[in-house]
Amino acid sequence: MAAPKRFKVCESCGSIVAQKAVVCPNCNAYRFDESTATVLAQAELLATRAPLSVTHEDYH
Ligand SMILES: [Zn+2]
Repeated sequence: MAAPKRFKVCESCGSIVAQKAVVCPNCNAYRFDESTATVLAQAELLATRAPLSVTHEDYH
């Protein structure tokens, strides 16, 4: 995760989404944790679960 400030974590499903996203592309939730520490922790969690799970599909 090179630029955690550009992302945030969905509080509903735990997905990492782009900072500019208004709602979660996966579950349409609108609550996010935007702290850098949380984004980094979640990125590590997802990385251990499924490498490259943060896909570009989420940003279109
Ligand atoms: Zn979500």
